[in-house]
Amino acid sequence: SAPLRHYNFSAGPAVLPESVLEEAGRNLMSLGDTGVGIMEHSHRGKPFVAIIERAEALIRKIANVPDGYSVLFLQGGASLQFAMCPMNFLPDGGTADYLMTGSWSKKAGKEAKLFGKVHTACSSEATNFDRIPSPAETTYSDDPAYVHFTSNNTIFGTQFPTEPTPPGDAFLVCDASSDIFSRPVDVSKYGLLYAGAQKNLGPSGVTLAILRNDLLERKCREVPAMLDYKTYVEGQSLYNTPPTFGIYVLMLVLEWIEKEGGLSAIGERNEAKATKLYDYLDSSKLFKPTAAKGSRSLMNVCFVTGNEETDAAFIKYADERGLKTLKGHRSVGGMRASLYNAFPPAGVDKLIEAMQEFESTHAA
Ligand code: PLP
Repeated sequence: SAPLRHYNFSAGPAVLPESVLEEAGRNLMSLGDTGVGIMEHSHRGKPFVAIIERAEALIRKIANVPDGYSVLFLQGGASLQFAMCPMNFLPDGGTADYLMTGSWSKKAGKEAKLFGKVHTACSSEATNFDRIPSPAETTYSDDPAYVHFTSNNTIFGTQFPTEPTPPGDAFLVCDASSDIFSRPVDVSKYGLLYAGAQKNLGPSGVTLAILRNDLLERKCREVPAMLDYKTYVEGQSLYNTPPTFGIYVLMLVLEWIEKEGGLSAIGERNEAKATKLYDYLDSSKLFKPTAAKGSRSLMNVCFVTGNEETDAAFIKYADERGLKTLKGHRSVGGMRASLYNAFPPAGVDKLIEAMQEFESTHAA
């Protein structure tokens, strides 16, 4: 009989740990012995307040968040952060610097232009975002309010090896949607770090933000309460009804990360999974990775055969073997294997096996 669960290579929403899904399932009808399901509890009641407090405490512990930072649970996805960040922190007539490494950075920059000037500090668009420009290729403006970058480019399969260093007293803003908590992170280097939850943290609908508190003093215009970071800092993310179920699952995922040994252990495992796949791709005569060496993402491995029909045939071949959602984004084509935290190493072995078999019958 068919297995209950396939290997899911989806870029997001993406695979979650099975133990988390089982635990969430057990609490749907009754959270613990409360007799009220997890989705049915008031966000102001003791059981949920304990959950959101535990989620925050786990984030502080796992990511070693320094004092002076707030952990916020927001809505509107990373896409709302594209607007909320400049709305709060980019003064009229001021400039923010954007490292343009993919479609998501461009979307972020486009929103910032509604509020001030955007300086493109670097861009790899000329080569279809196949790499992360080096620091030597990055030129900052004179006095940027902040520097924004996308740590992992989900669509193009590239990832910053380490975070850029902003000039002067500009602070660093990071869209970490597709590699948050996939490896150790030095939060003290960031002013604002945000991520939609639906890849490494839980279901869609929650956005995690980690914000350095002193930046609240740099707020440069009046904004509606729901778009003001201060509202969430002061109201402990409970100004209005938060996505309670999403925050609950996020808490379970954080518990799972801790059980797995924290970010170093998770990071090592992610590196092993991706390296195995890239090693195979580098040796293959049929499949070629699309991201430049030195810029390769450990989260989203993109590859092509160079022939669209062969790509489509492989995607179908893999799909029939329970290897699901391998189709790449249309702007790159080919295949994309997303290997987020919860993706099991055995799935990488299965993928390589399928590629070897396919390759033996479809010569380059
Ligand atoms: N930034 C990155 C790097 C992403 O991968 C995505 C979604 O895939 C987004 C932003 C948009 O996130 P959301 O759908 O949560 O607005």
